[in-house]
Amino acid sequence: MTSDILAKNTKTTCPYCGVGCGVDVTTINADKRIIAVSGDDHHPANYGRLCSKGAALAETVGLEGRLLQPEINGQPTDWDHALNHVADKFKQIIADDGPDALAFYASGQLLTEDYYVANKLMKGFIGSANIDTNSRLCMASAVAGQKRAFGSDTVPGSYEDLEKASFLVITGSNTAWCHPIIFQRIRAAKENNPSLKIVVIDPRRTATCDIADLHLPLKPGTDTLLFNGLLAYLADHGNLDLIYLEKHTQGFGEAVEKARETSPTIPAVAQLCMVDPEQIATFYQWFAATKKTVTLFSQGVNQSSSGTDKVNAIINCHLATGRIGREGMGPFSLTGQPNAMGGREVGGMANQLAAHLDLENPDHVDLVSRFWQSPTIARKAGLKAVDLFDAIYAGRVKAVWIMATNPVVSLPNANHVKAALAKCEMVVVSDCIAETDTSAFAHVKLPTTTWAEKDGTVTNSERRISRQRAMLPIPGAARHDWWILSQVAQRMGYKDAFSYDSSADIFREHAALSAFKNSENEAPRAFNLSAFADIDKKTYHNLEPVQWPVTRLKNGIIQGTARFFGDGKFLTSNQKAKFVTVETPDPGNVANGEYPLLLNTGRIRDQWHTMTRTGLAPKLCQHFTEPFVEVHPEDAARFSVVDKKIARIISQHGEMLARVLVTKNQNPGSIFVPIHWTEQLTTQGRVGPLVNPVVDPISGQPDSKHTPVFMEVYDAGWYGYILSRRSLVITEAEYLVKVRGEQYFCYELAGKHTPKHWAEKTRDLLCEGDPQHVQWVEYFDNAAGTYRGARLKDGHLESCIFVSPSTDLPEHNWITTLFLKAQLSEAERASLLTGKPPIGQEDIGKVICACYGIGENTLRKTINEKGLHSVDEIGHSLKAGTECGSCIPELKQLLNEK
Ligand code: SF4
Repeated sequence: MTSDILAKNTKTTCPYCGVGCGVDVTTINADKRIIAVSGDDHHPANYGRLCSKGAALAETVGLEGRLLQPEINGQPTDWDHALNHVADKFKQIIADDGPDALAFYASGQLLTEDYYVANKLMKGFIGSANIDTNSRLCMASAVAGQKRAFGSDTVPGSYEDLEKASFLVITGSNTAWCHPIIFQRIRAAKENNPSLKIVVIDPRRTATCDIADLHLPLKPGTDTLLFNGLLAYLADHGNLDLIYLEKHTQGFGEAVEKARETSPTIPAVAQLCMVDPEQIATFYQWFAATKKTVTLFSQGVNQSSSGTDKVNAIINCHLATGRIGREGMGPFSLTGQPNAMGGREVGGMANQLAAHLDLENPDHVDLVSRFWQSPTIARKAGLKAVDLFDAIYAGRVKAVWIMATNPVVSLPNANHVKAALAKCEMVVVSDCIAETDTSAFAHVKLPTTTWAEKDGTVTNSERRISRQRAMLPIPGAARHDWWILSQVAQRMGYKDAFSYDSSADIFREHAALSAFKNSENEAPRAFNLSAFADIDKKTYHNLEPVQWPVTRLKNGIIQGTARFFGDGKFLTSNQKAKFVTVETPDPGNVANGEYPLLLNTGRIRDQWHTMTRTGLAPKLCQHFTEPFVEVHPEDAARFSVVDKKIARIISQHGEMLARVLVTKNQNPGSIFVPIHWTEQLTTQGRVGPLVNPVVDPISGQPDSKHTPVFMEVYDAGWYGYILSRRSLVITEAEYLVKVRGEQYFCYELAGKHTPKHWAEKTRDLLCEGDPQHVQWVEYFDNAAGTYRGARLKDGHLESCIFVSPSTDLPEHNWITTLFLKAQLSEAERASLLTGKPPIGQEDIGKVICACYGIGENTLRKTINEKGLHSVDEIGHSLKAGTECGSCIPELKQLLNEK
């Protein structure tokens, strides 16, 4: 696409979380890739708001680090060679070892059209169901739980139900950081309706607790016990909807009997969940008394060895009270990824068929086979993510095509994934980024388009389909994923079935399949886009956000669907919802003598997945600059780890280093580490290698929240950091984290033994072999093991280094501002050696407000000096919290601490 045919103003969708916010983009200079973004006022997911990640999208669209040419074995090649190479190898493997020797590993980052083609190729034409996706790590348990209860994978409600509820249960979700715009909608709803009660259920005291009336810090893995206790309470206190139970459900008797067995009384539940019994009683009373109740859940529920049971324990309580599919009521699964829901629609997981049809159902297989005119459709489920990489390791899968994801970072037991890829006969990676931890193992790299260039659809957590539209030209030889997949398919001999010209062609076929044999008379299915089965390109281009199912009324009007099951009719064979009797097995991963702590993993506020895009935006890299481990003070003392120093965390599978953050927000006995850091950015900061590959037996979702670990102090002999205008290769530090800033890179460093001759070494490192043309200022105290040096060129700061035997290093932020100056004053040069800001300047501290770059020190000082009492007053004084609002919980915490 050339830049002159791109629109100046584009409505598109944010590529990060499952909220699916609408984004207005103004293309300022397409060739220089300069855009401006703002929230789309008319998009029903966000009504004009964007969180810190969405608001920083314009900083992520440059070409730095992009893969722009196909490569075979590290050598650039053209598309013809690359595509033939892949197709020929796949054909050879199928001929020699059968279709199950191939696998695709896809992603919730793919657009629905890309996903559809991948699934059609693997399941319909290669004839294996070995296509799984990183959505397996995200919401597979929600899918399985919903299918068991409703007979279909259907989220019953809409975001507006969160605002219309009178009682909101948020469980296993740090909504404030992971789905920030949903959190802001809830906060606004509470401000408008102070009687809205909110309970947050989470072992950690997260930022989401900022709006909670009650926080239940339950013991990890005991969610089913808590909700079984609620079911028993509702039954024992006459809070059931008996008419609803009779008419619209089945299996209540067995479910409540089991619930009474596992969770007989509030004191028993309190003991099992390790929560104050009064808090449990309050939660149960509020739930019992409030008709309009929504239970919002996410990865804290799904990522568990009993995740599917947890989902059903929640749904059981809503069925028992008839609170499903009506305004302000229902269980609500928040998807993690931008198109996890779209992937489910096209059957992107190994145990699904397209269009919400089932691989286990021969009629469904026959239906899809007829629609695709598929010669060799798969007839049994394929390998789920963890099993798939085990099969690669074992040599049963000979070739894998990994699309838009980074499993060497994100899968559990990630070093095993590495070992599997190292052994694999052929690894194909299609990605927009050239160097990732996963592409390091690729025999073939295929360059793809990314957010600013893509064209297609995504579906968010409330079933809303929205368009992603391109606003920048496609660079180099990059191509859309659907095009690459179609080309390989054609070269494998499936030309007619994959002769698409545009994403609109694919969407039309996807919609037509959803409508195929799907009517009131023919076992109707929930997923239905019949209104789009003949959509033309122009209508597709202009498609407005709409919730499926989307049907055409007799008067021709196209209509989406806000809610399901309000009429009490479910998609089971007898149209009744099913209670599922849930046991409460011990969590798969139990702490023990050797590994006495439980490791919990998750996202942080300003980063997305493996940081390949958010890591490009300086303002998103300042909130947390390093992999960290949150530790309760009791555990810090018990394991002799110290705030701001480094800890080594060890599991049965691997180990990592992380900066210690001692906090009472963490419960004793468990620690928290974020998921984002990769080997591109750290030496030992990946948490994936530690995570236990235990999976839920039904959903196959890994238990990423409870890995037994040991923790010990990392006995660093020295600490330091380097700030440099250019990217460096540093080999001296055992601990290294690279962070991007505005016109600089920061390298956090530590090691056991202080390198000898730091001064000489850093001169070589920082001088680019041109020491004559730079000016050095430096200070070293060999006896104390302290070294400070700065390199200036033409009066401006090029780089500087600080080394110390302790963590008592100069604060960073005032030094980073020197990189924005054309000339350093004498006072500023001197301050580089003293390690203290020049008189009149202060370090802003850790950045809290990413939008305006306001740091903790500035906030604390202003709060104290001006006697500020509210977030509004902070906003008035400093603007912090007034743009995206993602930092408001932290601002409140600072106010509470004053
Ligand atoms: Fe993007 Fe933030 Fe909206 Fe999620 S909440 S879709 S990350 S803007």
